[in-house]
Order: sequence, then C-alpha cells, then structure tokens
Amino acid sequence: MSMQCPSCGSSHIQPMAVVHAGGTQHFHATHMAVTSDGQFVQGSSQGSQSTALAQHCAPPVPPSPLPFIGAYGIGGIIIYMSMTVCPLLARECVYVGMAGLRYNWKQAAVGIGVIALSWLLMKGWHAQAKAYSAAKRQWQSTWFCHTCGQAHRPT
Ligand SMILES: [Zn+2]
Repeated sequence: MSMQCPSCGSSHIQPMAVVHAGGTQHFHATHMAVTSDGQFVQGSSQGSQSTALAQHCAPPVPPSPLPFIGAYGIGGIIIYMSMTVCPLLARECVYVGMAGLRYNWKQAAVGIGVIALSWLLMKGWHAQAKAYSAAKRQWQSTWFCHTCGQAHRPT
C-alpha cells in the first residue's frame, strides 16, 4: 500500500518520527590542543544537532514532574523538622512526633501550605501530561510531505 499526500498527490511522504530521526545527528568529537608549556590536552564535546526540518517534525515535549515532586519533598522535610526538637546543647535532634507538631504548629502549617501548593502543581502537571499524550499520539500518526512541505494526518 502506498500513501499519497492528500494535498499534492506526491508519494514522497514520511511519518514525522522518521523525518525527525533522520535529521537529528548525535555527535561526539575529540579535540587535541597544545598548551603554552608544550603539553597535550584532550577535550571532547558531544551533543545532538538537528536540521530545521527535523526540528519542525520534533515530537511534543513531555511536562516535567520535578516541580511538584520537589515541592512535596520540601513540604515533607518542613513537617518532619517540626516533629523534632533540637534542645540547646544537645547533639542530636529528638523525634517527638505529634507533640512536636503541636509545639511547632506554625512551622507545620508552612509545611502543609507547601504540600497544598505541590498538590496544585501536581494537578497542573496531570492536565499537561494528558494534553501531552494526546499531542504525542497525534504526532505519531502525522505524516510529512517532502514535496509540498505540509503535515497531514490520515483520517
Ligand atoms: Zn504534498
């Protein structure tokens, strides 16, 4: 079965993923240099390079869960710290649990506030992740026509 571009009828079409992979090159280069005191030094650089066309056909970028994971961590640490008591001159903090929460309630409230914030961040991330998976599915089924330069989705 041969696919054809619905706009110009050309059969020179490829999935976006193939165009993207074909135009992206990963390189690793090594350089030699001689310093002023006559020593050889070696340096290397690596990375990836993609053509403008490959960038045009790049997949959607997934949202990062790190902000809310970090906020959960910070909130958890604040609450944990409010459950410990560090007496003056003592070497180690003592874990006192709920009693510490009552005593350090202001700090605990800050920790709960941070956790509430991270919950909001997580909800935002969840919505972004849903939009991302829809965009990714769309990208996977999109074809790029090399003749007219248009992207098409077979229906
Ligand atoms: Zn075309």
